[in-house]
Amino acid sequence: MQFTDLNLIDPLQRALTREGYIAPTPIQMQAIPQLLRGKDLIGIAQTGTGKTAAFVLPILQRMHEKHKHVSPGFPRVLVLAPTRELAAQIGDSFAAYGHFLHFRHTVVFGGVSQVPQFKSITKGVDILVATPGRLLDLMDQGIVKLSAVEFFVLDEADRMLDMGFIKDVNRIVSMLPHKRQSLFFSATMSPQIGELARRLLKDPVQVEV
Ligand code: AMP
Repeated sequence: MQFTDLNLIDPLQRALTREGYIAPTPIQMQAIPQLLRGKDLIGIAQTGTGKTAAFVLPILQRMHEKHKHVSPGFPRVLVLAPTRELAAQIGDSFAAYGHFLHFRHTVVFGGVSQVPQFKSITKGVDILVATPGRLLDLMDQGIVKLSAVEFFVLDEADRMLDMGFIKDVNRIVSMLPHKRQSLFFSATMSPQIGELARRLLKDPVQVEV
C-alpha cells in the first residue's frame, strides 16, 4: 500500500512527498481511513510507529474539508501530551504535514514564560498542542476556550496517568463539547486506561500495532 491509496487530499500528498514518505506504516494504514470517516479511535501504539502522522493527517484533511473561521482563543483541535518534548514534536508534525494548508498551530507547555504563548493564542490558533497543567492555567485566565473544539487527541494516555495528570485531564475533558471526534493513544492497555478511554470515546474503533 502507498499513501496515494489512502484518499488524502493533494496538499497532504505533496507534504508527504516533501517529507520523503512513500508507504504508510501499519498504524497509519489502519487508522487513517477510519479517522477520515469521522470515527473515534483508540490506538495502542508506541512512539516510533508513525502514530503522530496517523492522527495529524486525517485531522488536517477533515479541518480542510469543513473550513471554519476561528475566533482568537477558540482552537478547533486540542492535542494533549504529557511532556513538552512530545508536545513540541506533535507541533512540528502539524507544521510539516500542514505545509501546503494554512492552519495556525501553537504549542504550550509549562516551565517557560506564558507571554509568547499568550500572544500566539490571541493572534488566532486553529490547532493547540498542550501539556495539561499549562493549558489549565491558560483556561483559568480566559485565554483559551474549548467550546469550539471539534477534534480532541489524548496522546500517551498511559504516561499521562503515570505522571499524575488524571485530574487535570478530567477537568479539561469536562470543558469539551460533546459533539467532537476523539482519539486516544496509549503504548499499553490496562483496566484504568480502558476506563479512561471508554469515558472519552464514543463507539471507538480500536487499532493495535
Ligand atoms: P512517531 O511514531 O509518530 O513518533 O513517528 C516516528 C518517526 O517516523 C517520525 O520521525 C516520523 O517522521 C517518521 N514517519 C512517520 N510516518 C512515516 C512513514 N509513513 N514513512 C517514513 N517515516 C515516517
